[in-house]
Amino acid sequence: MLRDPGRLDLLFRAARVVTPDGERPAAVGVHDGRIVAVTPVDADLVADRTVELADDEVLLPGLVDTHVHINEPGRTEWEGFATATRAAAAGGVTTVIDMPLNSIPPTTDVAALEVKRAAARDAVHVDVGFWGGAVPGNLGELAALHAAGVFGFKCFLAPSGVDEFPHLSTEQLGAALAELKPLDALMIVHAEDCDVLDETAPPAGDSYADFLASRPATAEVTAITNLVDQLRRTGARAHVLHLSAAVALPVLTAARKDGVPISAETCPDYLTLSAEVVPAGATQFKCCPPIRDEANQDRLWAGLQSGAIDCVVSDHSPCTADLKCLDSGDFGDAWGGIASLQLGLPAVWTQAQRRGIELSEVVRWMSSAPARIAGLSRKGSIAVGADADLCVFAPDDSWVVDAARLEHRNPVTPYDGIALRGVVRSTWLHGAELTGDAPNGRLLSRETDGA
Ligand SMILES: [Zn+2]
Repeated sequence: MLRDPGRLDLLFRAARVVTPDGERPAAVGVHDGRIVAVTPVDADLVADRTVELADDEVLLPGLVDTHVHINEPGRTEWEGFATATRAAAAGGVTTVIDMPLNSIPPTTDVAALEVKRAAARDAVHVDVGFWGGAVPGNLGELAALHAAGVFGFKCFLAPSGVDEFPHLSTEQLGAALAELKPLDALMIVHAEDCDVLDETAPPAGDSYADFLASRPATAEVTAITNLVDQLRRTGARAHVLHLSAAVALPVLTAARKDGVPISAETCPDYLTLSAEVVPAGATQFKCCPPIRDEANQDRLWAGLQSGAIDCVVSDHSPCTADLKCLDSGDFGDAWGGIASLQLGLPAVWTQAQRRGIELSEVVRWMSSAPARIAGLSRKGSIAVGADADLCVFAPDDSWVVDAARLEHRNPVTPYDGIALRGVVRSTWLHGAELTGDAPNGRLLSRETDGA
């Protein structure tokens, strides 16, 4: 794209730039926080400031993480807007969409959304938007939340882990989807079936195998099958959150073949960790649905490469160290969530590179694909008109994760001590380098026509 870009505030020149058409040498010009030029690397452009990337660096679009639990207000000791968005920036993530639960109040009506926005205002280091929640009894709130700018609605089909965010029955799911259909709003679904979970023995003790057996793959298959039935009935559209069970992929693929509007994400934990490596009592690995075996992991990678899975987002769901029950190592008692917001890109890249997958593919899964699903037209790509949200990444550098040095609030993560490839050297938001000092992120609302 070569056109007269006018005056430039900032210009990047790099031998490797990940564009929507793949990786190539390019110059990227920025004015007023937007990308205004993507040209051959040696184009005759001048700017107030020029950044020449080093030979070992690649310019990426900032990552878009549409699955983050920030927990403020109400459980701010688990995670807050300042700490989570600092972790995001350190990990090359420039946009996060916050989940509607684990904060108090949960984001299930407009008043609660305004409470969240007030807590986030002037505190965020990257751009932040919000999902709403669909729970039993708030059907009448969904249209108003949609109008107030949430990106869509999250629901659970099994207990969420917190009492104030109950799950929907199949009938309630159908009613909520029927409400969302005329709004063309997206339902995002924690797809584990509560009846299947009820039939299995609850986890107790330090055995990871017992915990894994308590959240079988059939719970995901059944939930996704029921969801597809409800989508066929209502014509609404949905997105499957944190797909862990690869055996569910044919259900998704068959539904899509029939034109059912359904997409799916998976998470770095499922792509890079496996049941085989979880020591007894290592509850920092507990998440729901669970990390499964290596054969499953191989099939998730194949699902990404075939397009059966659309994107990779973190499901960063931290808590305080005591709630992880690291002392007792009891998988029944420990909070089910993993803190990984800062680590997604290097974790996924480390595995991708071993599997011979190109960096531009990883970036598509972690940047443009989640942006598309959330309807963020100016995020997730290095292209004229996009926000100048960028990440300078050194893909061949290696480092070892030290949980104590990560930016999220509580220094607990299963990635502690793991060697990863790929270092985020700098992150840029609206054309300004993020330093961790000034919280200059913006609050985002769902884009409407003409936005
Ligand atoms: Zn989650």
